Amino acid sequence: MIALSAIEKRFGDNPVLRGVDLAVPEGRVTALIGPSGSGKSTLLRCANLLEVPQAGTLTLGEIRLTFRPGSPPARRDVLAVRRQTGMVFQNFQLFPHRTVLENVTEGLVTVGKWPQARARARALELLERVGLAHKAADWPASLSGGQQQRVAIARALAPSPRLLLCDEPTSALDPELAAEVVDVLAGLAGEGTTMLMATHDLRLARRVADTVVFLEGGHIVEQGAAADVFARPADPRTRRFVRTLL
Ligand code: ATP
Ligand code: MG
Repeated sequence: MIALSAIEKRFGDNPVLRGVDLAVPEGRVTALIGPSGSGKSTLLRCANLLEVPQAGTLTLGEIRLTFRPGSPPARRDVLAVRRQTGMVFQNFQLFPHRTVLENVTEGLVTVGKWPQARARARALELLERVGLAHKAADWPASLSGGQQQRVAIARALAPSPRLLLCDEPTSALDPELAAEVVDVLAGLAGEGTTMLMATHDLRLARRVADTVVFLEGGHIVEQGAAADVFARPADPRTRRFVRTLL
């Protein structure tokens, strides 16, 4: 089971998540949509403890952490959560001084303690999966944005995380390059990769997401099957928002 329950996150006196309950069905894709500042990125970051909530519970398979103000999770719990989650960022965040292959092997070797040869085989398998095995020896800067994001996806998936988190994975890309990233994410979705993504890209959400969650002001306003939320939003706020994106 993967779930965030009663999650509260404040920055100073700015309450950003105000009691968010979200179950992420395994093998499915959940898309978070909502206005800028509604807390989508913060919620993703709470799922891998890049941000620590003040209250609530995070369940990731065997891991179950309950948050309390002033008592940060233990280092070993943070590492356990990081092992079970991969993150893809809007701006790729590849290591510029590592080759494409090394970008994918780096975490496996340094964090996962994988032997080099095994890490290399795993990286090549994933680069193959995203259509970039032929770029293994190249530098990230020599790749297009869409290719860099596909490397970032391969890197995030390398340790076989239980959950792939994607924060606006296509937002920095021209439509043509975004389309190749959408294709890769759709392929992964078809293979049963569990994903939680924040996106303004309705083409991505419609093609890839099973469930859509509309977040506003740190609350979940509406959630449901993607087709329903887009075609027949129940809440007027969702209706207004979806209309602006269509
Ligand atoms: P967007 O659609 O623009 O990406 P979002 O829904 O992802 O927006 P968040 O980035 O989660 O929104 O931000 C929600 C609120 O939290 C905003 O008011 C933002 O200013 C605030 N916030 C986010 N991160 C921090 C931080 N590290 N320190 C202080 N405030 C923050
Ligand atoms: Mg965001």
